Amino acid sequence: MSQTPSHPQKNTNPDNFRYHHPLSHSHPPPFSVTLLGSGSSGNAALLHYNSTSILIDAGISLRQLQLRLSSLNLTLNSLHAILLTHEHSDHTAALPQLIKKFNIPLYANRPTAEAICWQYKLENPVWNYFHTSKPFHIGPFHVLPFSVSHDAADPVGFLISTPSSSLAILTDLGKVTNNVLYNIQNVNCLIIEANYDPTLLEKDSKRPWKTKQRISSNFGHLSNTQTAQAIASAASPSLKHIILCHLSADCNSPLLALSTVQNALHLSNHSHIPILCAKRDDVSPTIQF
Ligand SMILES: [Zn+2]
Ligand SMILES: [Zn+2]
Repeated sequence: MSQTPSHPQKNTNPDNFRYHHPLSHSHPPPFSVTLLGSGSSGNAALLHYNSTSILIDAGISLRQLQLRLSSLNLTLNSLHAILLTHEHSDHTAALPQLIKKFNIPLYANRPTAEAICWQYKLENPVWNYFHTSKPFHIGPFHVLPFSVSHDAADPVGFLISTPSSSLAILTDLGKVTNNVLYNIQNVNCLIIEANYDPTLLEKDSKRPWKTKQRISSNFGHLSNTQTAQAIASAASPSLKHIILCHLSADCNSPLLALSTVQNALHLSNHSHIPILCAKRDDVSPTIQF
């Protein structure tokens, strides 16, 4: 029997009903993510689900954080938690001021928290410690921190799930391990760094040889090619959105990063997945899934 279009405004794509509870008459709320800044000048990602908002990293100034949140009609007081991937200042710069002026629960593993306290000479802020590889909850978010290869105390990526969808955020890593691939394989939204183009990095005259070695090492950052390979091997029918982040200002361009990843997706028959390149010093478009 053919379906009568009694609700013509509704999208009947079966994908949209995948997570629909059989007893529920309304759609589940969307999981949304907005990058507030991305790259060596500061990283922060806002995640929102069902009236809970959390921030991943706080590497832009407190003033910019407030301004960018207010452009989304939010304030720092509306954040339920701040989770930290690692201690580098482009991920933590706002913390000294934030801790002084606000009372937002902070989440990090112990080595990262200790490195942050040492780095900013912070006196006993209250931490919510998590353990790398051990899942925990913040409101409706199920959070799994997993280890990544980077030159920090105990750097992590996060796999974050809600009852309806999931996201992985992977910023600052020098290589994509099997463990990383395992954790990102079924997500609906993948946020991953595409830091540098190898030729531009090699040609760059501003960076000393040692810095270039560090960037391209297993404990540095991902090149566009490494990122493209990781995405192509992790792409599944669940993957609906890709966000490329942490692009180097001098040794990369959105065009280069996008085309490298698009080529790899094309070769692996996933060229339909939309890719967004995060803005460096501004709020990127919000992605819902
Ligand atoms: Zn970084
Ligand atoms: Zn870093």
